[in-house]
Amino acid sequence: STPTETIEFQAEARQLLQLMIHSIYSNKDIFLRELISNASDALDKVRLAGYQEKDLDVDTSDLHVELVPDAENRTLTVRDNGIGMSRDDVVDLIGTIAKSGTAELLAQLKESDSVESQALIGQFGVGFYSSFMVADRVELVTRKAGETEGVHWESTGEGSYTIEPVPDAPQGTSVTLHLKAEDAEDSLHDYANPATVRRIVKKYSDFITWPVRMAGEKKDGAEETDDAGPEVETLNSMKALWARPQKDVSDEEYAEFYRHVSHDWQEPLETIRLSAEGTFEYQALLFLPQHAPMDLYMRERRRGVQLYVRRVFIMDDCEALVPEYLRFVKGVVDAADLSLNVSREILQQDRQITAIRRRLVKKVLSTVKTMMTEDADKYATFWEQFGRAVKEGLLEDPDNRDGILEIASFASTHDTEKPTTLADYVSRMRDGQEHVYYMTGESRSSIEASPHMEALRDRGYEVLLLTDPIDEVWVDQVPEFDGKELRSIAKGQVDLETEEQKQEAQKRNEEFSGFLEWITGALSEQVKDVRLSSRLTTSAACLVNDEHDMSPALEKMYRAMGQ
Ligand code: ADP
Ligand code: MG
Repeated sequence: STPTETIEFQAEARQLLQLMIHSIYSNKDIFLRELISNASDALDKVRLAGYQEKDLDVDTSDLHVELVPDAENRTLTVRDNGIGMSRDDVVDLIGTIAKSGTAELLAQLKESDSVESQALIGQFGVGFYSSFMVADRVELVTRKAGETEGVHWESTGEGSYTIEPVPDAPQGTSVTLHLKAEDAEDSLHDYANPATVRRIVKKYSDFITWPVRMAGEKKDGAEETDDAGPEVETLNSMKALWARPQKDVSDEEYAEFYRHVSHDWQEPLETIRLSAEGTFEYQALLFLPQHAPMDLYMRERRRGVQLYVRRVFIMDDCEALVPEYLRFVKGVVDAADLSLNVSREILQQDRQITAIRRRLVKKVLSTVKTMMTEDADKYATFWEQFGRAVKEGLLEDPDNRDGILEIASFASTHDTEKPTTLADYVSRMRDGQEHVYYMTGESRSSIEASPHMEALRDRGYEVLLLTDPIDEVWVDQVPEFDGKELRSIAKGQVDLETEEQKQEAQKRNEEFSGFLEWITGALSEQVKDVRLSSRLTTSAACLVNDEHDMSPALEKMYRAMGQ
């Protein structure tokens, strides 16, 4: 068969590996969490493949993770009998980084100091590559379920790796870390020491639903019996967090579980639990992250909720469970009454899934609403990170429009720093003010400088300053909030006058009718109509859109999209 090949890492992968080797991350222990997390995912996948592909030649009778610390050779091996990888899988998944946003992240990393770097890399997550924080050489042997030949991969993390076929690899993946000498001195971080391994698994991977085993140390007097090898010890309790009573689970455990499902390295911003009994029985454990992922607004983005059926993993990013605009929500839904064979297509139609989704959306919205009153800073972080996505819901999910409007906030003329909620806007409305006024535009300053603002400013009316491109789109679909009409100050007639002022205006119109006729004629190519205005106080004239015309910014957006 093919001889050993040497292959270069993709450029982005090479850069990330450099960061790992020079360990910008202060907590090296987490490499083990990453490897166990990958092993656990691989076990989930093989169990599912076993259910779904009856002809697949796999043994799923004793799925587990095995840890082998070897003090003599200074290695630690993490082995699983999961789905494994083909040669091409290894090249694609281990040799390259497919995550969108990688190049941008690396550019940012170059410019930031080490503290910022840690936060950035933490946000990104580097999974398998974290092995190179503790190992100066990593070997990986793997065989994909159903295939006959395995592969051996090896690298020092410096530029390239080697890959070669192995005829007799067991199914699954085995990662052997040749540990850096420097960590051996520090007994707490000696990864060839079973006590260290035991401590780390307990801390970071306890909830993993597969057994994580380690061959135990020989007990005193073990030499005297001819017992076959040392006893095997299971290091984790394997309890699914979402199935445990909430009061028995610590914040730290939730945070670790969040890291496992989200591949994020930080803590969640908020943990959300919900469950239902009766006809549709399910449990859900959801998280709001602290940071928007880099691909939140990219096309290939994925949704973050996993579907389980009675503790059996069914699929990642189950799109039937969450609408697009909540795609940043991470976590798990475990439903009791679904077939293990469900497909994505079937799920879209499933009544139980539809019911769960409806409840989940309401729960997320109500959680954020509670956050607004109980922890304003947390809410501000949430809205800053995810507000743009949530606003898409005003278009995507009309049924929850009111709930979304309640948790939204917008820049406003009331405060130059802090955005306002609509409820706060309404509470500040002046006597006689009937509408919620807004203006869309490119930036706060361009809107504030607009002549349209003058009359509103004079009357002391607050104006919402909407600068997201998406704002252009939803404002046309959302007529009101709390019985108050939303009105653009740049469109049609903004009715600010009293009766008296109206009569005055009527009189002036008659007075100037000749002038208006003349100027309308002179500008007939450029404008539809010329009117005397009461909205200007210092500017001589301004352009106004018709009530139903596209706003200039929207026109620009469509033009940019080539329409
Ligand atoms: P992530 O887990 O966030 O995708 P990793 O760097 O941890 O990133 O792993 C990259 C990919 O390599 C995984 O998505 C998976 O497809 C594959 N992989 C890693 N470890 C294993 C394993 N033990 N068994 C099978 N596939 C694996
Ligand atoms: Mg991983």
